[in-house]
Amino acid sequence: MTLETLLREGFAELGLPLDETALRRYRLYADTLAEKNAVMNLTAIEGEEDVARLHFLDCAALLQGFALAGKSLIDVGTGAGFPGLALKIACPSLELTLLDSLEKRVRFLHECCEALDFPDVRCVHGRAEDGVIFRGAFDCATSRAVARLRVLCELCLPLVKKGGLFLAMKGPEVEEELREAQNAIRLLGGSVERVFRYQIPGTEVHHTVVAIRKTGDSPAKYPRPWAQIKKKPL
Ligand code: SAM
Repeated sequence: MTLETLLREGFAELGLPLDETALRRYRLYADTLAEKNAVMNLTAIEGEEDVARLHFLDCAALLQGFALAGKSLIDVGTGAGFPGLALKIACPSLELTLLDSLEKRVRFLHECCEALDFPDVRCVHGRAEDGVIFRGAFDCATSRAVARLRVLCELCLPLVKKGGLFLAMKGPEVEEELREAQNAIRLLGGSVERVFRYQIPGTEVHHTVVAIRKTGDSPAKYPRPWAQIKKKPL
């Protein structure tokens, strides 16, 4: 099946709209990703069908559970742009910042945003724990495949405004990570709002999104330097 057919069917199954501009942008993104992935390590997911399902539809599924139109969002450890850039295509009113610690991936993101005609997307090279200028700046933070939840909370919750949401994209089994993250969530001013479960259309893959509402303040001493976060996670 072509990327276009998979996306049309997948979006319909998710109950989400997909217009021709978005479809053209997904095609361009997939082609750019395939071309660059051949010469630099951007993603282990390859081939049109897997990119359509395991990247684009997996990320778009977030919109089934959460209204993001017009929101400011930072995607922490975005890599080749997931979920951030894939969400922006489906929801162009998103005010998007893409953050990654690997410079070559951020260079790729700049090129991609230019090709996709997204001049408003901010692509930032840096580490989340160093992001002092972004403190409390976003309605929403997302992260997929970056770290365990207790660590992610320290990286992401300080970036979110009070009242905003941190959406952690996780695999099917999240209970243990959630238990382990209780202390971090509490210390950083968060509270678990819900665990959204979904199946990626056209697959047997089940994923979850842990939605953490920032109900309080994140104390100024967090995030700590990476060495400390790693050695002694909250
Ligand atoms: N989120 C993407 C996805 O799901 O395809 C990429 C996942 S990749 C396994 C993890 C990415 O997180 C890498 O690109 C790495 O450079 C980035 N990363 C890890 N720790 C980070 C940190 N503290 N701040 C910013 N980026 C980080």
